[in-house]
Amino acid sequence: MLKETDIQKKNRLDFSTGWSYDPAPESRDHITIKEQYGHFINGKFTKPIEGNYFPTISPSTEEEISQIAVGSAADVDAAVKSARKAYSKTWSKMSGRDRGRYLFRIARMIQERAREFAVIESMDGGKPIRESRDVDIPLAAAHFFYYAGWADKLEYAFPGRKPKPIGVAGQIIPWNFPLLMAAWKLAPALATGNTVVLKPAETTSLTCLKLAEIIQEADLPPGVVNFVTGAGDTGAAIVNHEDIDKIAFTGSTAVGKIIQKAIAGTGKKLTLELGGKAPNIIFEDAAVDQAVEGIINGIFFNQGHVCCAGSRLFVQESIADEVRDKLIDRIATLRVGDPLDKNTDVGAINSKEQLDTINRYLEIGLNEGADIFQSSCELPEKGYWCCPTLVANVSQSHRIVQEEVFGPVLTIQTFRTPEEVLEKANNTPYGLSGGVWTDKGSKIFNMTSGIKAGVLWANTFNKFDPTSPFGGYKESGLGREGGLHGLTPYLNI
Ligand code: NAP
Ligand code: MG
Repeated sequence: MLKETDIQKKNRLDFSTGWSYDPAPESRDHITIKEQYGHFINGKFTKPIEGNYFPTISPSTEEEISQIAVGSAADVDAAVKSARKAYSKTWSKMSGRDRGRYLFRIARMIQERAREFAVIESMDGGKPIRESRDVDIPLAAAHFFYYAGWADKLEYAFPGRKPKPIGVAGQIIPWNFPLLMAAWKLAPALATGNTVVLKPAETTSLTCLKLAEIIQEADLPPGVVNFVTGAGDTGAAIVNHEDIDKIAFTGSTAVGKIIQKAIAGTGKKLTLELGGKAPNIIFEDAAVDQAVEGIINGIFFNQGHVCCAGSRLFVQESIADEVRDKLIDRIATLRVGDPLDKNTDVGAINSKEQLDTINRYLEIGLNEGADIFQSSCELPEKGYWCCPTLVANVSQSHRIVQEEVFGPVLTIQTFRTPEEVLEKANNTPYGLSGGVWTDKGSKIFNMTSGIKAGVLWANTFNKFDPTSPFGGYKESGLGREGGLHGLTPYLNI
């Protein structure tokens, strides 16, 4: 933890009003979590071949929730064999209409069990229940619904072509949107007739394993979806397995580069969704209060554990003081704490490792001369927490401005002209997303055509929809997921 003395104390914000909300925790009574989970291979939960398990803990309490299987290369091989068999015997031969039926069934079952999924997501990953309930789980169901609709219309999606599935897809996902990332990967792969071996992130395997229960109940043919749990080595075993035809990876740019090297020359297809350092640009003619709310949502949503988080704020000079004061007021009212409490705005940092990374960046920022403001939120004794943080007095060359922190940390810089801000906005190795706040349509078009990023929002931020493509430029990735575009990586057309 960054010590209190390390942060300039005078900048600690205390707006305590003397009253607070009563706790409003979501009940855990209705959920079931087993003490131990094996992999999900060939339609069954199976014990890991080497017999090893690791604990998954709640980052808000540090309590162990369950034991998860460590996937070895032998487990991955069993999963790939089962996926290959399901691909050649059933799934690739099934009509699109029937594949769609299975996907609709899965989507409806996620909706039916939405509360259970939301609670487990918040317990295992630390995100506020409000988000898991209102964003993660509904969007996961929406992805299955959306791609279910495409399953029997692929020839309309690609007129004049005969689109064919690729085969077995290996999919590796991160911990920031566990169930949503799984849905994001599985739905298009299955709709197009591929079978899958997927690895969730080490710290957040539980909702994937609950999804396995739904897949069983939905009677999906065994082997069409396989989950192998574990850490980076398990992911590498998927990447390097020779009978996998396509890798879809979401995670850090560093691991993305390792994967790209590993599969070079193998003929495997690849999509990469990697890191980001999104600019959020506010012009003097913007509706300031609305923009401040959008900036807060853009970076503190999900503790800043969002690849497309608006982590770099650029404010036009004439309104810089006003925006800064309003941001400071607003972050002082954000409630940090129990992810299961319905009033919580900012939950727990996903792991101790991630908290250490965030604190390391704050220290780097301080050493580089930045001014750091944190809300004086009272933090629970156990668990991993970071108060919402503003970083001012920084320039383009600061590491905290250039590198992805992946936490609730917002840097603030000013600009005078649109040309200047475009240059600054594009001056990072990333290009995933960005936002513009202005009253003028012409400025929106000018900015959104100038910012090199795959996703751009105007007068809003962090809005997602299964129908729109998502993906990055430069070191933010390769290929698009979502929408019609999201079908192509899974098809030979
Ligand atoms: P990460 O370390 O790259 O991990 C992502 C996944 O890859 C995890 O399942 C991880 O397993 C696995 N993995 C680790 N080393 C591997 C290897 N050598 N070969 C194959 N798989 C390996 O990323 P993270 O820190 O978990 O996630 C945060 C990053 O993801 C951020 O950079 C964020 O921007 C990015 N992200 C991007 C998007 C997007 O759509 N562009 C979306 C969400 C997140 P373990 O976790 O079990 O070690
Ligand atoms: Mg966990």
